[in-house]
Amino acid sequence: MEKAHFFGASKKWLALILCGVIILGIIAADFFINREKSEKTYVAMGTVITSKIQGKGSAEAEEEIRTMINGMETACLSWRCEGSDVYRINEHNGTFESVSQDTAKWIADCVDVSEKSSGAFDITIGKVTKLWNFDGESSNVPSSKEIEKALQAVDYSKMLFNSTAVKIAKGQFIDLGAVGKGIACDSAREILENSGVKSATVSVGGSVLVFGKSATVGVICPDDDTKCVGTINLKDKCVSTSGDYERFFEKDGKKYHHILDPYTGYPVENNLRSVTVICDSGLLSDALSTACFVLGYKGSLGLLNNYDAEAIYIFDDNTIAVTDGVKSFKLTDNSYKMK
Ligand code: AMP
Ligand code: MG
Repeated sequence: MEKAHFFGASKKWLALILCGVIILGIIAADFFINREKSEKTYVAMGTVITSKIQGKGSAEAEEEIRTMINGMETACLSWRCEGSDVYRINEHNGTFESVSQDTAKWIADCVDVSEKSSGAFDITIGKVTKLWNFDGESSNVPSSKEIEKALQAVDYSKMLFNSTAVKIAKGQFIDLGAVGKGIACDSAREILENSGVKSATVSVGGSVLVFGKSATVGVICPDDDTKCVGTINLKDKCVSTSGDYERFFEKDGKKYHHILDPYTGYPVENNLRSVTVICDSGLLSDALSTACFVLGYKGSLGLLNNYDAEAIYIFDDNTIAVTDGVKSFKLTDNSYKMK
């Protein structure tokens, strides 16, 4: 009896120990698998890209994201890359041009933001952005005559599209510079989801994707883009910043930056230095940050509501305003004040 009892008890112990060993094994395997990580920084899309990926398959996912970003620029987004979807749409202005379903969808999403922002965001601004040439080495202030002429080509409502083809009006020119980095974040998320990695942050210039687990993202100081004015904690979100410090030149003591008012053709002059937008989609966060900059603080709050997006505004008097849903913003630079 005692023996039997002892035998029964030792069996229980054995089973318990075995369970313990199996659980420890699973924890150890998970630990080693998830210790796999990849951190890379490189230049593509005319900007610096940093990806930090954790979990099994991180190196492969990183490689895939890098290939995707390079391919996306040359095959779809860049108006400079001969043969890209955008290049061909511009080249064949006035007629329908076949494009990838992705490009057609991105353009449809851009037009939606144009409609909801009453044209403050408009990818047909291309003739005007080319004139200002903020990406070039020698930027010049165009004459008012040149601006007037280029403005005649700006009108998103003249664009036509279906799921595989896009037509811009004769003489129009599209520039997807305001959304390319956000689109890259969306495509990176698709790769990460399919790869099964645990978590990642992918930063493409002014747009950042936070995937899988929460991460702290810095909001850049407009006076010194190596510093941050504050931080936010995000999880499974995209965040994009548009600022007057990103691309600009100075002429005769005046600063000209790259965010243009589609109604005047000139750089937006309001009391903003930057707008940071947080939402689920990279394309939308990127388009909205540009649109909100053009519309100004009060004029843009309604637009954000349309897309369930939140924003952080930095003003030229070193004050900061955040929308109600931005709960985690922490001010880290005491030369700035909350409004
Ligand atoms: P972002 O830095 O995302 O605000 O994008 C700015 C870039 O978008 C500029 O360099 C132009 O190529 C383009 N852009 C400037 N103003 C506008 C606008 N109002 N609507 C759409 N694209 C614009
Ligand atoms: Mg943008």
